[in-house]
Order: sequence, then structure tokens, then C-alpha cells
Amino acid sequence: MIIKKSSEQIDQMAGAGAVLVKTMNLLAGKVRPGVTTFELDQAAERFIRSQGCEPAFKGYRGFPGSICASPNSMIVHGIPGPYQLERGDIISIDIGVVRDGWVADAARTFPVGPITPIARKLLTVTEESLHLAVQQVRVGNRLGDVSHAIQQHVEAAGFSIVRNLVGHGVGRSMHEEPQIPNYGNPGTGVLLEEGMVLAVEPMVNAGRHTVRMGDDHWAIYSEDGSLAAHFEFTIAVTADGPRILTPWHEASGGRAAA
Ligand code: MG
Repeated sequence: MIIKKSSEQIDQMAGAGAVLVKTMNLLAGKVRPGVTTFELDQAAERFIRSQGCEPAFKGYRGFPGSICASPNSMIVHGIPGPYQLERGDIISIDIGVVRDGWVADAARTFPVGPITPIARKLLTVTEESLHLAVQQVRVGNRLGDVSHAIQQHVEAAGFSIVRNLVGHGVGRSMHEEPQIPNYGNPGTGVLLEEGMVLAVEPMVNAGRHTVRMGDDHWAIYSEDGSLAAHFEFTIAVTADGPRILTPWHEASGGRAAA
């Protein structure tokens, strides 16, 4: 069952989203060669708690971190630790914030100093695909319209959609129905209605789409070792169109002219 939210509840979720965005911006200022993913995690947790909020991921199914920090070929679910960022890395940071019982969820992939042209293109295309998806989050559209917008843009650029991982509804729980694949056919799937809130999160490999699980049983990597990017927004379906509840101002790649 898809749990719809009132406009007051969506405002509350936007409050969680605002703290999330501040946390992401804080980490954006800390991403540089030599910083460890554990240091990023500590900074995020301190800030989230200082705002009277909880990190949604901490303890989720036993996850030890407050953020997921996934470098290079790691797609998602990286446990923060001793890994030191290196010049030329890309690092995907996924954050969940709980405020007054409401969850916001968002992710973005940052460059660590100058990166290769292919890495730059991967970040740009993945972020653009998210913005194209946002434009489909409208009353009367179907979930397949959202999924297709991502798939079409990513595959046109020669990259691969990760198929084993999907976006999700979000609300009082981090993972609610529906599941949101990043591939699909327009005009198919769940009809979007006012009050639905979706965590849309393209996960894109520069190489093939297949994945492998890490030894810690959390981290998920591209199977071929190619670079992977991950961008995510929490988005509400409103009568006035899509409302991004985790909006950041500065794009790390290009912004789609949608
Ligand atoms: Mg998510």
C-alpha cells in the first residue's frame, strides 16, 4: 500500500530535508584528498544530532554508519571507515535524516579534486537523469514515466542503469512502497497521485550494469570495477507539480534543461 501524505506532513518532511541539505553542504566542504570516510560520517552525525534530528541509516538493519560513503566502483551502502579520499576519486554520499518521525533521503556523488573526463561525464549524466525524472513526478503520470526518463538519458550517454537496486517511497519509514526502478516503460506502473513522496535515485555504472556484493555484506560494487554514480532526491507529488524536499542549489555536474 502506498501511504499518501497531507500537505502538512509534506511540510514536515521538507523540514527533515532542509537538515539533510545542510548536512550534505557541510560534507561538500569537507570532501578533499586525505579525508577519511569515517571523518565525513562523524561530521554528519554531529551536525544531524545538533539539529535535534537522527541519522536514519544508523542502526538500520545493523548498519554502523550515519551516512553511506561509496568511492569509485562502489555504487552504494559503503560503511564509513579508514578509507582516505584520493585526488581523482569520486565519492557517493547518501544521507538519511529523521526529524519528528519523518524521513528524508538523498544522495550525490562528488569529485575529489580534478577527475577524468569519463568520471565527469558520469556525474553529469547521472545528475541530469535525476532532474529529468523529477519533471515526470506529476499527478496523472505513471511510475514508468519517471523510470523511463532516467533510463533513456543514461543509456543514450552509453552508461548502464544498475538494475538490482531501486528507489522507493519514503515517509515515516525510510523504505515504503512503491519500489522505483531506474528503467521502465512510459505509461506503465503505478499512477502518481497527490501526496505520494518518492525517493528517486538513479544508480549508474560507467561500464556494465551487473553488480557484486562486498565482503562486508553491505557495499555493492560494479562487477566490472567501472566507476559508479548515485544521485537521489526525496520528491513529493503535489497539485502544483513536483516538490523536491531535499533541494541543493549548486549542481556538481550539469543541470538538465528540462
Ligand atoms: Mg534511498
